[in-house]
Amino acid sequence: MSADYLVVGCGLSGAVMARFMAEERNKKVLIVDKRDHVGGNCYDYIDENGIRINKYGAHLFHTNSERVWKYVNRFSSWTRWEHKVLGVIDGQYIPLPPNITTINMLCGQHLTNQQEVDDWLSRNQLKHKHIDNGYQMATSRVGVTLYEKIFKHYTFKQWGRYPEELDASVLARIPVRNNFDDRYFSDKYQALPSEGYTKVFENILEHENITVRLSCDYFDIDPSTVSNSTIIFSGPIDDFFTNVGYPKLEYRSVNFEIKRLKNTKFFQPCATVNYPGPETPFTRIIEYKHFLNQESPHTTIISETTCSDGDPYYPVPNKRNMELYEQYRALAEKERNIHFVGRLASYKYFNMDQAILNALEYCDSNFSI
Ligand code: UDP
Repeated sequence: MSADYLVVGCGLSGAVMARFMAEERNKKVLIVDKRDHVGGNCYDYIDENGIRINKYGAHLFHTNSERVWKYVNRFSSWTRWEHKVLGVIDGQYIPLPPNITTINMLCGQHLTNQQEVDDWLSRNQLKHKHIDNGYQMATSRVGVTLYEKIFKHYTFKQWGRYPEELDASVLARIPVRNNFDDRYFSDKYQALPSEGYTKVFENILEHENITVRLSCDYFDIDPSTVSNSTIIFSGPIDDFFTNVGYPKLEYRSVNFEIKRLKNTKFFQPCATVNYPGPETPFTRIIEYKHFLNQESPHTTIISETTCSDGDPYYPVPNKRNMELYEQYRALAEKERNIHFVGRLASYKYFNMDQAILNALEYCDSNFSI
């Protein structure tokens, strides 16, 4: 087991940290994951329909960071992919995030240009004194009608609470457009790894100083065998401090229901169709065949239903959890020779590029020569 660094978790943060210590600091790194594969929640594979699917939900890479873009290009070629999302609302396919077409279709308008949209929005947006929660954020951006149709119930299905019970940042993630742009993201770089995410991780971890051990739960490792290693922990911070007896942090998990439709060209018009209404339990259906225009006589669709139990996916940003996290963070700061890095260890809703940048910047600040 002996290694200079023991990295816990083979997701983005762990893999980037492992590579840095191995390559830039010439350290021996052991990276472990309790799952039987690398890649964390980005893990993908080719299914029995010959279609590449993500085991833990669709992952769309997008970034404005030159540093992150340069970094990921070292480990894979990437194919530009501008993600589009439609929502089934009032029985029709509506573009998301909201743009001119969305407003026209859902609010019976005939807006044609940016000025008209800006005027319509400012007439409809609620003017709150402070933006303290997701409800205030959403209604201050789109007004009540679009809030009810697009955000209110979807957010409840996703988070198990209504927007007023969540941090404003959650409802600020997706833009509101005053034009016809129907891309989900506006970042300079938006792409998918040409050979899939798993390959990216295999390439990041392909280094003579890195040993990967899968199906290995950090908490089952005999501490005496790693007592000389510095630990980089990317798992849930509250799991690390279970013995302290603080309440657990809340996470949302996702239940995936896979359907393989034989001899079916397509099930839906684009890769992601959201179901923002209360009439379905799932939030969205992903049809993976659309990504990079894959070919198969069949198609695979996966519906995502968010739930409170299961693997931790999304930290739940509300007051209770943020305050509790601060208590865990205070414990983490007292630990010597252990670094807590990544979405679960920092209890932050990172996009992929933010997770990579965060890990790289953590190395800049903590492992400079
Ligand atoms: N959201 C919504 N309706 C939608 C799409 C998003 O209410 O059709 C809200 C919801 O609260 C969600 C947040 O916006 O959690 C961020 O959406 P995003 O697509 O970024 O979520 P992710 O892909 O990270 O699950």
